[in-house]
Amino acid sequence: MKTATHLEKSNIPFFHSIRFRLLLWFTAILMLVLIFFSAFVYYNQKRDIERDSLERAAIRLSGLQEDLRASLPQENGQGILPEHILDEREVLALIDSRGQIFASYGNFPEGDIVQAATQAMQNRSGHEESYEDFASWIDKNSNYRFVVKPVLGKAGETSLAVLGSPLDPNGQLNGLLTSLLLGNLFTLAIALGGGYWLADRSLRPVQAITQTARHISETDLSRRINLESKDEFGELANTFDSMLSRLQISFERQRQFVANASHELRTPLTIVNLETSRALAARRSAQEYERALRVIHSENDFMSHLVNDLLTLARMDNGQVTLKKVPLDLSDVAVDAIERLTPLASRNNVKLAIGDLPEARILGERQSLLQMVSNLIENAIKYTDGDDKKVCVEVRLVDGCAWIRVSDNGPGIAPQHLPHLFDRFYRADPARARVMDNDTDPNPDTPSGSGLGLSIIQWIAQAHGGEVLVESTLGSGSKFEVRFGAL
Ligand code: ADP
Repeated sequence: MKTATHLEKSNIPFFHSIRFRLLLWFTAILMLVLIFFSAFVYYNQKRDIERDSLERAAIRLSGLQEDLRASLPQENGQGILPEHILDEREVLALIDSRGQIFASYGNFPEGDIVQAATQAMQNRSGHEESYEDFASWIDKNSNYRFVVKPVLGKAGETSLAVLGSPLDPNGQLNGLLTSLLLGNLFTLAIALGGGYWLADRSLRPVQAITQTARHISETDLSRRINLESKDEFGELANTFDSMLSRLQISFERQRQFVANASHELRTPLTIVNLETSRALAARRSAQEYERALRVIHSENDFMSHLVNDLLTLARMDNGQVTLKKVPLDLSDVAVDAIERLTPLASRNNVKLAIGDLPEARILGERQSLLQMVSNLIENAIKYTDGDDKKVCVEVRLVDGCAWIRVSDNGPGIAPQHLPHLFDRFYRADPARARVMDNDTDPNPDTPSGSGLGLSIIQWIAQAHGGEVLVESTLGSGSKFEVRFGAL
């Protein structure tokens, strides 16, 4: 994973950081798991030890059976059990039928052993099947396992023999408890250290993202996070980077747009300024005033067009233009546009020919479609030249596609300009662009435009789900075709 090398320190206090919260959760969960695991191991072991102790004590008491029988009280005296038959820490008591202890060996833990033994014998039914004549209990205070069993004396008298042995003679449970405690503490310490390191390491890309975001300003959108990682952070960083790229393009376009718009406005404003200054500098003839006024009028026209186009594009960009589409005939729109532009065509000596106009129904907004077709025809009229100037408008319906074509026999457009025609403010023929310097008068007859017309045409076409196609060869005229899905 490659991240920015010098990461600035985060301003977030440690206790508010995700790192801390992750660590807290992680530790809490680990502690819970360790506690459950340890309890499980401990109680399993305890159960095994208790079971073993019962088995051990029962077998031991059975082994002592014969010795005990011999030791049981005679008619008037007490039997004596040889001390050596008991293991170290084992305790033994013999209780006669009257409930008196008549012999005991070893240090019995405190408590009423007679009552406990009698109670155990009474409760033994169904206790431990394999030792049916036994009863057993555990003394929690002393941690002793006791087994009690009736023993038949030689004189036919039944006594109770109680044998007690330590539950866990080797201290296995204590050892296990200590090991579990130490093991858990060690695991927790390692997990805390490792968890902190891991959380810190995995969150480093976030710091890189934050740092880049902090350095981005309106004037420097060129920075990228460039996180070469295939994980979620990599995805986030890539999304962030592509968002920045889009923002950068959009800011750049905006800046270019404003610069171009100001540039476009500066020229006519300068011309108006020059014309008025020149007219006012000295007494002029009526013709000279008229010429100056015509130039100012033409520049004013140009500025109005430009401002209108700019406003239209701004509204389109802001999503303020909502089209109310209805089913309509594309040929009707073509006829309306032709009617509107026939006077302009005849003023420019352009023959406006009408080709096929079959019914071609599409879903569209009449006003914007009319603007689109009018702009196309206006361009064709504007850019044709020569003696036999001709512009043809036709509509076709082919394979569920309705298209309108405006063709002219003008100068055509060089191939290198075609990919940029729809860029804002792009003009294919600089020679035909507005010329202005201090000594040259703008020629009102020169075709002039802002370079925004085709952008607007394309926007309208796309807003109707259509596309604009251009075919043009230098010297053989141009064909602009807009295709829509027919109803
Ligand atoms: P303008 O306002 O300059 O006409 P457009 O966006 O409508 O802007 O057109 C962009 C450029 O495309 C024009 O400057 C012109 O060079 C070229 N153009 C458009 N239509 C034609 C055409 N029918 N014949 C030749 N060139 C054209």
